[in-house]
Amino acid sequence: MTATEWSTEPSVLDARRLDRSGVEPAGRPAAVAFPRSAEQVREVLRDAYAGRTPVVPRGAGTALTGASTAGAGAIVLDLSRMNRIRELRPDDGVAVVEPGVITADLDRAAAAHGLRYAPDPASLEISTIGGNIATNAGGLRCAKYGVTRDSVLGLDVVLADGRLVSTGRATLKGVAGYDLTSLFVGSEGTLGVVVGATLRLRPLPEPTVTFAASYGDLFDAAAASVALATARIQPVLAELLDEATLDAIDAADGTHLRKAGSALLLVQIDGGPQEAARAAEVLGRAASDLRSTSDRSETAVLLAARRGALPAIERLGRPLIEDIAVPRSRLAEAVREIAEIARRHDVPICTLAHAGDGNLHPIIVAGRSAGPIPAAASLAADDIFELALRLGGTVTGEHGVGLLKRAWLARELGPVSHDLQRQLKALFDPRGILNPGKAL
Ligand SMILES: Cc1cc2nc3c(=O)[nH]c(=O)nc-3n(C[C@H](O)[C@H](O)[C@H](O)COP(=O)(O)OP(=O)(O)OC[C@H]3O[C@@H](n4cnc5c(N)ncnc54)[C@H](O)[C@@H]3O)c2cc1C
Repeated sequence: MTATEWSTEPSVLDARRLDRSGVEPAGRPAAVAFPRSAEQVREVLRDAYAGRTPVVPRGAGTALTGASTAGAGAIVLDLSRMNRIRELRPDDGVAVVEPGVITADLDRAAAAHGLRYAPDPASLEISTIGGNIATNAGGLRCAKYGVTRDSVLGLDVVLADGRLVSTGRATLKGVAGYDLTSLFVGSEGTLGVVVGATLRLRPLPEPTVTFAASYGDLFDAAAASVALATARIQPVLAELLDEATLDAIDAADGTHLRKAGSALLLVQIDGGPQEAARAAEVLGRAASDLRSTSDRSETAVLLAARRGALPAIERLGRPLIEDIAVPRSRLAEAVREIAEIARRHDVPICTLAHAGDGNLHPIIVAGRSAGPIPAAASLAADDIFELALRLGGTVTGEHGVGLLKRAWLARELGPVSHDLQRQLKALFDPRGILNPGKAL
């Protein structure tokens, strides 16, 4: 076995100390390991376990919660060099990959066989499959095709003490034993290190229709997305953008989205012409403008605007990206209350939402300076979490808990569930070396 590459260069450490949350850990990690195989990951963990050294698994570091930050004394386990697509088996509808594969690369490789890797976080061109699995990432298409968990059939995971365990299976069905695969999905690097994944691929659908429906206000746009569900229409994606977000995108990209209305609902349908016609009717009821396209490049431009929303908002100031989900039927109520929270605390909030599954991203723009988050922004964030729980929702729909939401997680889970989860952590990682202090 070749030796694992290590670095203690300050520039290499600094490049892996932070994620995209803005959370600053205390100090600098001790070293970065760049394994190229499961065996090398095992060796790193065996030594770390013996020495009780904290290990922070890392894919691309795009987490928005502090989950992949690494402070003083930690080893960063950078998995980006384990980036091979090992197998792509069209007949089985399955791919076997290493954790450092970039999500969009897998989707492109599947497309060459008429297949798709469905989960598509807006970060799909920069984030890794391992990171997506560890955060159970959502995305635009999950309104119809599910989140990352729905595409993971089996995992190879190195445990804290260096043992390798394979979970799940390579078949599309299978129910033997407890579902450890699902337990590892979304565990934010705290239960084990994913070194291989067997993933489900789906047929590439027939050409789709994409609608851009503009509305006079966000409440109407949210209500239209709920009306789609009531009319038994299953969009691939239903993305909602408010006025402030449209302004930010227009300013960043030179587009004119805001001209057509104060809120935009992007909806994509792949269920054939009848479903598309019904969607047009439902969306058109209250729209100030309704456009549709089946042209690939026009569709790509519309979706690029949505995927570029976060970078556009980042130009306005420091974003506090919240990530709540509410029952879909309460989406319109949630957007109304978020607007009220923004007014009450006098902070700008840009709201975008994966409306098809009730997942809202109210993004609080917390000034331009680094340092402590202004009190008004923190209070607004607390009110948003409170709102999510009050409406029967959750404090994180897809980004995870990381460092930022641990207190709220305890509240959402309640003492019994929280205690069970702590016991699971102790079972898998008795010395507490895996991404300590995160997620729970
Ligand atoms: C512009 C932008 C848009 C985004 N859009 C979305 C979106 O639409 N939906 C969404 O869900 N998220 C989104 N995110 C958040 C982020 O991209 C996701 O959470 C993504 O899954 C993180 O992947 P990563 O490779 O960057 O992981 P990292 O940030 O490196 O790690 C994330 C977590 O996973 C753990 N981890 C990483 N690799 C492994 C592994 N192999 N084994 C075990 N644990 C591991 C880390 O320890 C950490 O806890 C977005 C972020 C940005 C910057």
